[in-house]
Amino acid sequence: MCHPLRHEIVARVQPTFESLSLSPALLAVVDELGYTQPTPIQAASIPALLAGRDLIGQSKTGSGKTAAFALPILQGLDLGARALQALVLCPTRELCAQVAREVRKLGRGYAGLSVLELVGGQPARPQREALERGVHVAIGTPGRLLDHLQRGALDARTIKTVVLDEADRMLDMGFGEDVSKILRPLPPARQTILFSATFPDSIEAMSQAHQRDALHVNIDEPDDAALEIQELRIDVEPSAKLHALCWLLHAYPHESALVFCNFKAIVSELARTLAASGLSVDRLDGDLDQFHRDQVLARFRNQSVRVLIATDVAGRGIDVEGLDLVINFELPSQPEVYVHRIGRTGRAGKKGVAISLTTGPRDSRIEAAELLTGRPIETLKREPGDDPGLAALLETLAGSPRMETILISGGRKDRVRPGDILGALTGDAGGLRGGDVGKIEVQERLSYVAVSTRVSRAAVGRLNSGRIKGKRFRATLVGAGKSRS
Ligand code: AMP
Repeated sequence: MCHPLRHEIVARVQPTFESLSLSPALLAVVDELGYTQPTPIQAASIPALLAGRDLIGQSKTGSGKTAAFALPILQGLDLGARALQALVLCPTRELCAQVAREVRKLGRGYAGLSVLELVGGQPARPQREALERGVHVAIGTPGRLLDHLQRGALDARTIKTVVLDEADRMLDMGFGEDVSKILRPLPPARQTILFSATFPDSIEAMSQAHQRDALHVNIDEPDDAALEIQELRIDVEPSAKLHALCWLLHAYPHESALVFCNFKAIVSELARTLAASGLSVDRLDGDLDQFHRDQVLARFRNQSVRVLIATDVAGRGIDVEGLDLVINFELPSQPEVYVHRIGRTGRAGKKGVAISLTTGPRDSRIEAAELLTGRPIETLKREPGDDPGLAALLETLAGSPRMETILISGGRKDRVRPGDILGALTGDAGGLRGGDVGKIEVQERLSYVAVSTRVSRAAVGRLNSGRIKGKRFRATLVGAGKSRS
């Protein structure tokens, strides 16, 4: 057991960049950039990475994770050899650009350093030519990297370090197989670094398959929820719960809201009532089969449905980026379930709000939750002037969602990649603008893509009359009332 004093001493020791075994050249750069102190993820990762260890790290955007892997990579480069020494895989072009920017910034003291982005949606030839001339660090999306590897444009034999950045998002986007194909032929002695915001079994499996004796680094404080999630309660008469829910949805502007109930009968009733008033709402309960559950979740993730009403069983494992409001329409009897529910929001460094409806000032379930988390749950008061009444609230909340979801009958098995779908919708063939296309999820045998409601019918038409990867697929709009009765 640790002595309490020891905790205090550990907490007071502030790491410095000098204490991390970085080279004088890199120390000068971090100093110039005004990085006065390593972030916790940097302090925990840099020494192990400099020593050549594999690492699996949990960290959020903004934690300084890019520098955590970029600094050791830069320190290990042999600039004299114009050979590819580090490969970084990212789920999106934007992230590739961001990582490349950071690597170039940190590497500005290295004359002759060559950093190349290899992303889809851009001509491959200039990328091949740059590879031929020789680069030190390549940063790319899995699809394009695999293309270059398979065509022999990218010589992997000299790679010393490979980084999987936002590995969970790469899996979500259907890149799992591509990532495995990229990693398999790399030199076995290479160092493998994996960063992920979440740790589903698939990430553990990826680490098992491609890493050796990886150091686990998790800098998320156990009490992180307290910083990211604002917890509130509101007292209402049992008969006024629907009204209170609508007021909360109105008073707390959100991208996506998840409303928890204890029973599926209440879920159905609420979903029906709100949908009848024109709200963008759907439900998730134990009655749904896997196919429809996936459809509902895909629509919720890509913001084709703003409010999702769920039971605990059905809501388990929901991991939605940008979920900023959780409402407990009914409180669960077990405090652990409360913690699990509110933990759906406040992800990835974003702020979330969790509000519980109670029907009396003393509620043993709230007290149990407070006892378990050690955090008081504040009571929310509605001023009479704040509330225009149920009918007016429903009217303001009604409206189509900004995005609609299209289901495409092809997936990874058909070699469809997100970039192919984007290509079919935009450009000369598709005619849509990039801004009209939202999240693209390629699953094993089918894909979901979010498109602006304004152009959704045209998009379905284009997809049905055109081809993806030279093949024809069926495209249909999915939505409440369309996906099931
Ligand atoms: P990241 O989490 O890698 O996206 O980094 C977030 C931002 O923090 C980037 O703009 C970095 O340039 C910056 N940054 C990284 N490390 C430090 C540090 N030790 N001190 C101050 N800023 C940093």
